[in-house]
Amino acid sequence: MRKESWDTRIERAERLPSGNDATSELLLFYAKLLRAQKKIYDYLRSRRDWLPSGNLAEDLTVVRGTVPALLRAVESSGSAILVEEALTLLQASDSDLDQMLLEQWRQPSDLQFFAKACLQPYARWLAESGSQPVDRALPRKENSCPFCGGKPQLSVLHIKETSSESGGRDLLCSTCLTVWPYRRVVCANCGEERPAKLGYYHSPDFDHVRVEACDTCHHYLKGIDLTRFGLADPLVDEVAAAPLDLWAVEHSYTKIELNLVGL
Ligand SMILES: [Zn+2]
Ligand SMILES: [Zn+2]
Repeated sequence: MRKESWDTRIERAERLPSGNDATSELLLFYAKLLRAQKKIYDYLRSRRDWLPSGNLAEDLTVVRGTVPALLRAVESSGSAILVEEALTLLQASDSDLDQMLLEQWRQPSDLQFFAKACLQPYARWLAESGSQPVDRALPRKENSCPFCGGKPQLSVLHIKETSSESGGRDLLCSTCLTVWPYRRVVCANCGEERPAKLGYYHSPDFDHVRVEACDTCHHYLKGIDLTRFGLADPLVDEVAAAPLDLWAVEHSYTKIELNLVGL
């Protein structure tokens, strides 16, 4: 599998052609967001004599300092609601920002846009630098990230290797972006295994993206099929297939984890 990085994501978001104006706008926004996240990641990574401890309460003095850059990026390109929230947060005290970040770390919510967007580069660097998350619940469940306990943002399908237990499906963590193997024909939310309860929906507009829905818990996520299009970048192509989210919601499915453009 191709190695994804902040750079490959930014490049994909900036170059991906999209079928309609609404999606183009989402991608433009996501590209700016990814640039801000890359800056946060680089800032954390290049700090001298500092590695994340995994105890966010302890790491806050550094992590808090990354929030304003993200707020300013959103202020210049976000939706009206996000811009307003960014302006409010730019006035917030350090302890308010700390609380926002800690709450998200300890009880993640896909509705907490700013906290989630700031913590992704932190958690990514934590995973890469070899520390372990400390002050955070770590459910040891098949459908939670084995590193940080986060929920799956999406699934990735790749060529099945004979040695692969998952049959070629991975889940990608919404918090630290770690990828872990997950059995192919199982709901990523409730673990339903009966094929009759699991539905896969395609649209001709997105040949390599599918909705993976479960009729037991009525949740879904999107799967990015790299066997159909190897140059896809899972996070970015997931955003670009926004019309599939509208379809899923119209059919009364709830997404396991909303992405950073709120879909
Ligand atoms: Zn994770
Ligand atoms: Zn389910």
